[in-house]
Order: sequence, then C-alpha cells, then structure tokens
Amino acid sequence: EKELATYESRTPSSREALKKAQPRMPLGVASNFRSYEPWPLYIKDAKGTHIHDLDGNEYIDFNLCFGALMAGHCHPAVVRAVQERLETGTMYGMPHTLEFDLADEICQRFPMDQVRFGSSGTEVTMHAIRLARGFTGRDKIIKMEGAYHGVHDSVLVSMKPKPELAGPDDRPTQVPAASGVPMDTVKNTLIAQFNDLAAVQRLFAENPGQIACIIVEPIMMNIGVCMPEEGYLEGLRDICTREGALLIFDEVKTGAKLGRGGACEYFNIKADLITLAKSIGGGFPLAAFAASKSVMDMIAQHKVFHAGTYATNPLVMAAGLATFREVLTPDGYAHVAKISDALVDGYNQVLKSTSIEAYVECAGANGALLFYPKRIRNFREWQKVDINLWKLYWFGMINQGVMAQPYWWDEQWTISMVHSLADVDQHLTAFEKIAPAIEQ
Ligand code: PLP
Repeated sequence: EKELATYESRTPSSREALKKAQPRMPLGVASNFRSYEPWPLYIKDAKGTHIHDLDGNEYIDFNLCFGALMAGHCHPAVVRAVQERLETGTMYGMPHTLEFDLADEICQRFPMDQVRFGSSGTEVTMHAIRLARGFTGRDKIIKMEGAYHGVHDSVLVSMKPKPELAGPDDRPTQVPAASGVPMDTVKNTLIAQFNDLAAVQRLFAENPGQIACIIVEPIMMNIGVCMPEEGYLEGLRDICTREGALLIFDEVKTGAKLGRGGACEYFNIKADLITLAKSIGGGFPLAAFAASKSVMDMIAQHKVFHAGTYATNPLVMAAGLATFREVLTPDGYAHVAKISDALVDGYNQVLKSTSIEAYVECAGANGALLFYPKRIRNFREWQKVDINLWKLYWFGMINQGVMAQPYWWDEQWTISMVHSLADVDQHLTAFEKIAPAIEQ
C-alpha cells in the first residue's frame, strides 16, 4: 500500500497520459503487456541505461524493453550506422548488400546455412512453424505450457491457462489463450510441460507421423527464468531426429542473451530451425529465422511461402549489423558476465541475511528473482510463486529509481552491454532497502 501510494504520487503525468489514451486505444496502450495497475509509466526519453518518465523521474533501466536492448538505449555504434544510412533511402523493397552481410554474420554464430528476415518475434516463429509444417508435410506441433512465442494463432495456446482449465500435470489440456483463436488451430497445438520428456514421447506415440515440430524456448524466460534439466534439450533433439520432426529453438531472447551463438552454442545442441529477434536489432525491429539449406530449400523451391514489405529494411539492417559487429562481441559478453555475477552475488547476500523465501535464477544476461523456496521446473510450479511479494518488490524498486521488468511473468532484469558496476550498486542498494518490507 505504501509503495503503491508513493508510485502514484510520483507519476501523476503518466496517469494523465493514460486517461488521454484510453478513449483511443484499448487499455490506453499499444501492447497488452504494457498495461498494469495502477497505470503504466509513460516514457519521455532514454539513453544508455537511463530512462525518464513524463514526470522527469529517472530510472536505471533493467527492463530494457522486455529484454530487447542488450545494446542499451541509443548505443553510439547503432545510432551512427542508422544515421549514415538514413539519407540513402529508408525502404527499397529490393535486395541490397547489407542483407547477406547480416545473414552471413548469423550463420557464423549459429549452426545454420541460410537466413530469412522479418520484423518481430511473432513473425519469425510463425514462419518457422510454417516451414516445419511444409518440410514435414505434417500439421501438428508441440509447444510447452506457459511458453510465449508471440501472438499468432498456433502459439496462442496454453500461454498461461487457468488451473481449472489446464488439465492434469502430465497431460495438459490445449487451452486457447484468448478469444479469436480458432479451435481448429488449437487442436493442432499439442501441449507438454517444460522438462517433461515422457510427455513429449507420449504425444509422438499418440500422434504417429503427424507432428511437424517441437517449438521450445531453450531456457524458458517467460516464467521468470526456468532452466532445462540435464538431458532435456538433448532428449528433445533425439526424439525429433527419431520421429522425423524438426526441433525449433525459439531464440528470440536466448539468441543474444547467452553469448555469441545463443542457446545452440550454450548447450551445444543443433536445432533444425532457430528464431531470433529482440536484442539482435539494437533497438530496431529486426527478426530472423534460420535453418539448414535443405529446410530452407522449401522456400527456394516456392513450396513454402515467405515474404514481407519490411523484411530487410535498410535502416534496420544497418542497426542489426552494427549490433552484431560492435555490440554483441566477446568483450561485450565478458562485461555482461562480470556485471551479472556482481548483481547475482549481491542478491544472494541480501537473501541470505533475511528469511525471504526466494531465489535468484540467472542465465547469461537475464536474471529473475523468484519468490518460491525451491527452483521451479515448469509453468505449474511457477504458478506458485508469490505474486504479492513480487509486486511489493517491483513497486519498491521503481520508487527508488530501479526499473525491473514490470511483469512477474518474465525475467526481472537484463544486463546490457552498457550497464556499469555503479548501476549494480544502485540496484542492490534499492533491494537492500526494500528487503525488510518483503520479509514481513
Ligand atoms: N518468442 C519469445 C521467446 C518471446 O519472448 C517473444 C516476446 O516476448 C516472442 C517470441 C514474440 O516476439 P515479438 O514481441 O517481437 O512478436
């Protein structure tokens, strides 16, 4: 209550902005994830790791656009690249040479032969699934309960199903995430719990020759941060190989967060298809899907269709190339590891000195504070996380100028290439201050 009142008193301009927006935009926002109680912060500007709201409050940004800004805001290399390109045409709808430079950059980092580009994570997970369906000639797919892969119909299934609709743990029901998703589509999206190989095996046994692919976020980053257990991803790889299905790693987040080669490198597993978005664009809407030549030949042979007016927009490609070459570098990842370790150590020290039932999970640049006594393995366990404590944490932090991710669903922080140890100090000082209130 106290933290909420403080938030309300510090952010009256955001409340006013929301009031103005509501008549013209559902919930007053442009994306449902931006809506929260009592009102979202409306942003004035941002640079580096700092972001300002309409009332002039300054925050150190650890949300970074839901993890899409490993480069931080306005990274000089990205700004320069875009500025240089800006006067040479902003859309051609024709091929240009930045395209294959960036495709090559991706294939150097990930075990893939060919790439096609898009503008959002949603777009590329949709194309990856379609490609898998076209390649295998099968319609069904497997996704994990609670996983988020964007907003197209095939994956808007069992996103965060209500417990009363979700079915048994080992046999989750296929639940449309919202109205408007056709049941005909839902029935082709089979659901398993993350970390449950037996369930995946059973789905293949019950649907012989019908499953085109498994789409999985190798580390689930939409239920805090949830790690795959040893052997799980390898197991999915083996099952797909045996069953003639394709393994899609949705690396929209992990692709830039875990290191140069994303989850494929981190876990040393070769997926058949990967999807990339968010941080690869350095703040611009860049997305990509990549696969072996034999899979991508489906597109080359006009058997599977892919197109897009905004694909390889030259400004976006310039931003992407600068991001890969000058931001997502080995030195950059070493820096992120140092900052991330300092933050996690600090959290653990504070937690050790209190009786708060919580733990920190960290994978590369992403970390989460989960208010639960033991490590969660899947969506069902994550549902037991204490949301009220999380809310106290979030409002407590924001009131002290530290912006964690404004949803308890996702990771709570992303460490960018430009965060400093001073930013970590401020983050940890805020957490130390709020910890006694959380403990009560
Ligand atoms: N896949 C994953 C793993 C994501 O986290 C997201 C977005 O949060 C998406 C896909 C969808 O990306 P976008 O919001 O760019 O459509």
